[in-house]
Amino acid sequence: MDGNATDGNATDGHASAAERIAFIGLGHMGGPMAANLVRNGYAVAAFDLSEAALAAARSAGVTVVPSAAAAVEGASVVIAMLPASRHVESLFLGEDGLLARIAAGALVIDCSTIAPASAQRVAEAAQARGLAMIDAPVSGGTAGAAAGTLTFIVGGEAAALERARPVLSAMGRNIFHMGTSGSGQVAKLCNNMALGVIMAVTGEALALGVSHGLDPQALSAMMAVSTGRSWATEVCNPWPGVKPEAPASRGYTGGFGSDLMLKDLGLAVEAALQVGAAVPLGELARNLYALNSRAGRGGLDFSSVQQLLMNP
Ligand code: NAD
Repeated sequence: MDGNATDGNATDGHASAAERIAFIGLGHMGGPMAANLVRNGYAVAAFDLSEAALAAARSAGVTVVPSAAAAVEGASVVIAMLPASRHVESLFLGEDGLLARIAAGALVIDCSTIAPASAQRVAEAAQARGLAMIDAPVSGGTAGAAAGTLTFIVGGEAAALERARPVLSAMGRNIFHMGTSGSGQVAKLCNNMALGVIMAVTGEALALGVSHGLDPQALSAMMAVSTGRSWATEVCNPWPGVKPEAPASRGYTGGFGSDLMLKDLGLAVEAALQVGAAVPLGELARNLYALNSRAGRGGLDFSSVQQLLMNP
């Protein structure tokens, strides 16, 4: 695993006129990503199962088509941005799967966060049909998707990544090549496991301080320049009102859903089981986010785990 970071050079505007892109999955992330491809001069045919997602993409200038099969017709690059492993596998694999319909020589890029084993399964099936495939899950959230500043965390052949680079650069700023197929997913899960644990312990620390009469704003300001600092203290602070721009200050709306964090922690635990690794804090965090989701906050930003950790 070389872990090379390279500048995506997102604004060079070198869209290849020859490249025809199919984009499947126009949700919170996929919608703005497809719009950025169009903005950078790519021809994009896109599909989603949701009428609302199609309408939003259409109004952002994306050409929408009636099915995934129609989207991949004549496409040289196929991008998927779907919720979970089962969606990706059912889209691409099987008799009626999309892999059977994509033209030989095309490149498949899966940007969804899914199980590494699932990414490898789909990549192997793609290869068997003469298609190159990379896993390229992203970091940067909905704001990064809209601004075209995502980080792509890539697994697969270096040659396939080089081919994908101009396309990824139209949607993001940084590209990390982590190694062979599935490595992008492993690296993404490592990052999100750390993020989930750090957010929860930050909420715990703030709740402890406030129970002792401390001002959460003053406590956060001190921590943000001390050894307890993190993105959770400085940017996405989980205590309402501490950071006006954070989801916590608008009822935990927007941002990265608690259910999605729960999914990623489940994938991290699954990946740990596969190799016999110990992830005690990851497992604990998975349970905390499960409790948070079951308390009705699954659709809210994952920093709402703070609510679980408030002391009476
Ligand atoms: P989302 O639920 O908003 O969008 C997923 C879209 O896929 C939906 O619009 C759904 O209708 C569509 N879909 C599902 N099955 C389909 C099919 N067979 N054909 C066509 N469309 C189909 O999810 P999202 O927030 O955009 O996240 C997508 C992926 O990106 C997830 O794996 C998530 O973990 C990851 N991710 C999300 C964020 C974030 O901040 N939201 C950040 C990083 C990574």
